Amino acid sequence: MTQRRPLIAGNWKMNCLRADGLALASDLAAKASEKGALGCDVLVCPPATLLSEVVGVTKDSTVAVGGQDCHVATSGAHTGDIAAPMLADIGARYVLVGHSERRADHGESSTDIRCKAIAAHDAGLVAVVCVGETEQERDLGATLSVVNGQVAVSVPDGATAKNTVIAYEPVWAIGTGRTASVEEVAEVHTAIRSELVKRFEDGNEFRILYGGSVKPSNAAELLALEDVDGALVGGASLKVEDFWKIIETC
Ligand code: PEP
Repeated sequence: MTQRRPLIAGNWKMNCLRADGLALASDLAAKASEKGALGCDVLVCPPATLLSEVVGVTKDSTVAVGGQDCHVATSGAHTGDIAAPMLADIGARYVLVGHSERRADHGESSTDIRCKAIAAHDAGLVAVVCVGETEQERDLGATLSVVNGQVAVSVPDGATAKNTVIAYEPVWAIGTGRTASVEEVAEVHTAIRSELVKRFEDGNEFRILYGGSVKPSNAAELLALEDVDGALVGGASLKVEDFWKIIETC
């Protein structure tokens, strides 16, 4: 069986003023350094205003830093956007692309996400490609076709297990306190794995994260599933104690 090192990623979304964000990042870095070898990789994705300073306070630890989005272009007239090379330039190593809040709030399509993932790869970043069905799609029985379709279009041909992570996040479970059942998660992760294996030589090596109201109380059962290789955590990543407990389940 392939051994995939889990990744626990925190998505801070549009939260944290400077003092709180830097305290959170430095507390996390201190815990990671104190603990030494961890059973997983750890990533935090702060808002853009804090990226550079969070890179600074985590630089001597194993905590990696990522952006929450990037533009498809390397530079130019795109007010308010951030280019992937800018993220790489300040020391970020990952970037989330296609989070459902970006898809919904900014009308991003899977084709847009693929272009963003390519921009991330070109800049040397690991793209965390997010996919997931809405509640209506699940109720219609369309979960697997929606998610497989998003993976097929959003993940570029140049993806490898080294430059790409997939995050399955059912939209109805994000920030709602509702978590998909282990059966639901297992079914979708197995389907994503099988698509990756069909398409990529190293499809078995890709990490597939689950996201959607992951917290200390449900992390262990989710992370124990065969094709769950970590978690993308929103709300619970804003409290160092909770995020740390999730990290320690690995
Ligand atoms: C997320 O932001 O990707 C997420 C899964 O949020 P939460 O853990 O709060 O549901």
